[in-house]
Amino acid sequence: MAVSDHVDLEQFMSGLKRRNPGETEFHQAVYEVASNVYEYIQDKEIYHEMQILRRIAEPDRIIIFRVCWEDDNGNIRVNRGYRVQNNNAIGPYKGGLRFHPSVNLSILKFLAFEQTFKNSLTDLPMGGGKGGSDFNPKGKSSNEVMRFCQSFMTELYRHVGDDIDVPAGDIGVGAREIGYLFGQYKRLTNRFSGVLTGKGMEFGGSPIRKEATGYGAVYMMQDMLARRGDAIDGKKCAISGAGNVAIYAAEKIIQLGGKVVTMSDSSGYIYDANGIDADKLNFIIDLKVNRRRGLSEYAKEFGADYFANERPWNVPCELVFPCATQNEVSRAEAQSLIKNGCIGVSEGANMPVEQDGIHDFVAAKVLFAPSKAANAGGVAISGLEMSQNSVRITWSVDELEQRLRKIMLDIHDRCVEYGSQAGSDYVDYVRGANVAGFIKVANAMVAYGVV
Ligand code: NDP
Repeated sequence: MAVSDHVDLEQFMSGLKRRNPGETEFHQAVYEVASNVYEYIQDKEIYHEMQILRRIAEPDRIIIFRVCWEDDNGNIRVNRGYRVQNNNAIGPYKGGLRFHPSVNLSILKFLAFEQTFKNSLTDLPMGGGKGGSDFNPKGKSSNEVMRFCQSFMTELYRHVGDDIDVPAGDIGVGAREIGYLFGQYKRLTNRFSGVLTGKGMEFGGSPIRKEATGYGAVYMMQDMLARRGDAIDGKKCAISGAGNVAIYAAEKIIQLGGKVVTMSDSSGYIYDANGIDADKLNFIIDLKVNRRRGLSEYAKEFGADYFANERPWNVPCELVFPCATQNEVSRAEAQSLIKNGCIGVSEGANMPVEQDGIHDFVAAKVLFAPSKAANAGGVAISGLEMSQNSVRITWSVDELEQRLRKIMLDIHDRCVEYGSQAGSDYVDYVRGANVAGFIKVANAMVAYGVV
């Protein structure tokens, strides 16, 4: 008889904290999943006996490496590169690369852990991984970014591959960086393969990849509201961020008749009581993506309010889309949003709401889509980019939009299946996503035995 791991949640967490000291974001992400999974597996001995949760919370492998590059003044610069390969039970490791000065092991381990469940929720064959560097692309010339990406890939290429690990973009890694990374991979290996997703359309990229995460987060909100006979049309929406996810969340909300009143960047937020319409959004795209400047210029251009160094969570609104970064909505801000009329939250960013804030939203019966469900649209289209690369075809925009729509609806329905509560119409989407994401990975791991 095997020794089962029938420890309770607190014992499990204290062991995890002992083995991973100081990694607070990682502890937070594991706790959020474990609290739901423990309840679900209470009477399912096989998952205890096989120590499944403990194994998912121990990355398969972590690669850490030095990245040297030369700046435009001829100085040698040194950064640290990472790839966390968390779990490949259901497919090659898959997850983005983040270039931001805040990047550290705790953040990447939390992201890789979350990615494992998110990818499972999409029902596509993808395992979980994440990587990046503490390199800050802000203020660097394109040549400096290129030299950094080339140096980064000169180590990373040994550890990735279309059937092994397929990175993509994340904060600080957009189309430009993916181009440089792919160019260097191709040069080093002499292989043109689907080793990265988020590629340009000229070299194997997929239609609607850049839109997919933001659109998906809005579709998730649409489905949660539709289940209650409600819709986005006419609702006031607060968005944080002005990057890839935020921009396309805003675009889809506008298309569906919602009114976007805020967007933000790392310097502050704008409040436009008249709503950010399609033309104003194009101004933001040009400002942030092409000119790489701050949102305060929007306020000057359109006479909107600008709040330096603040976050947009004290404004009256019904729907909330945090799309910037982790832990960007505190408990006090969650309470302020509830007080100000918030009825739904869809997390475009990864883990943007602090744990106590999530509990408050759920306790107040606010519709709450956690990031592993709400922002899975991006990785889903990345999964389809991998399929297209494998068979060397490109599907049409219409076909991919339909697939994205269906994947998000299926994720919504899986959350409802595992997050419904007897005697209540309220769905706990957090529990639903955690349990539904766990089951597929866990069953594959049981099938493999102890590996
Ligand atoms: P981008 O780099 O394109 O945009 C990030 C935005 O958030 C920018 O406006 C940036 O401001 C702002 N921001 C970043 N860090 C902070 C901070 N510490 N405080 C305040 N604002 C900040 O990233 P993405 O849009 O790609 O990613 C945003 C979030 O979505 C991340 O959590 C990411 O992990 C998640 N995500 C992204 C996916 C994708 O497909 N891109 C897929 C799934 C999840 P500034 O412009 O000043 O830098």
